[in-house]
Amino acid sequence: MNTMKALYIVEPMKMEMRELSVPVIQSPDEVLVQVMMAGICGSDMHNYMGESSGIAYPLVAGHEMAALVLETGSGVQGLEAGDHVVLDPVMSCGYCYPCSIGRSNVCENLKARGSHYDGCMQEYMVLKRRTIHKIERSIPWEKAVLAEPFTIAAQSSSRAAVSAGDTVYISGAGPIGLCILMMCKLLGATVITSDIIASRLALASKLGADHLINLNTEDPFVAIKKLPGIHGVTVAFDAVGHPAIFAQLVKLALPTARILCMGFSSEPSPVSLVDITKKELTILGSRMSVNQFERVIKLMEDGRLDGTPLISSIFDFKDGVRAFEELRENKAAHCKVLLRIND
Ligand code: MN
Repeated sequence: MNTMKALYIVEPMKMEMRELSVPVIQSPDEVLVQVMMAGICGSDMHNYMGESSGIAYPLVAGHEMAALVLETGSGVQGLEAGDHVVLDPVMSCGYCYPCSIGRSNVCENLKARGSHYDGCMQEYMVLKRRTIHKIERSIPWEKAVLAEPFTIAAQSSSRAAVSAGDTVYISGAGPIGLCILMMCKLLGATVITSDIIASRLALASKLGADHLINLNTEDPFVAIKKLPGIHGVTVAFDAVGHPAIFAQLVKLALPTARILCMGFSSEPSPVSLVDITKKELTILGSRMSVNQFERVIKLMEDGRLDGTPLISSIFDFKDGVRAFEELRENKAAHCKVLLRIND
């Protein structure tokens, strides 16, 4: 195995498979892995379509990875060849202010795999030990690869301190909205999910949503008032990332509510300050995750979190470019799309 394939976003709207040499371990804290499964995230699509800023093209796509450990550097502990691992895409500097207070996911010098640094859609990778987490070998690759989207849900729900007694409103039933739904149900909250795609609402229902709102036909302000046993929304997540939705959540929420902002839009949001002030809302940002992988992996190993219902298709790696094109053209027909990098 001297050469391998890697799926590049060469520039916006242009992807290609390239041949590279297989990387080798260069320092004691590194691990050589064979990538088995990768997930296509919304952010990969934005990078592909040129909708994000600061992207380091040409770039190997992907940050959702499940892989097999082949070799460990001399200083690596707690990991051996044959172990299964998942990747934390956060690469932090370790010395800036957020890093110094344990918030390395918002490092001032942050590099994220698949956006600012080569990602996981390649057959082999050499990774720093601290950026990978062991997961039980009995977990199938397609299930393990969903650890990363669950860490997003774990981070945002812990930022919002969701607990039993909360009524959570999640705008958006894509992969992230659905992962947040599953996490909030585990935490004991009542969950209202809204979307414009009926099939996604059906999936949300299967995954435990207590109430569904189809935004094509229903006004959420009216619909929430009519829900039996619901007084109002105490936590609201924008799992779409649209400035107008954020503004809507601020209007929709009960006094004292927490509003979770997770979008990457640079457009201003038409928020009324009076709502934030009068209702004493707490507005929270949430980006990637810190200290969430161990917790999520444990929940997956215990069988309490299973994201496999989100998987709408698995493409062979050789068809990777087609998978991105398919998602671009047919977004509504898909939920989580995976690439089988190796068999
Ligand atoms: Mn992701």
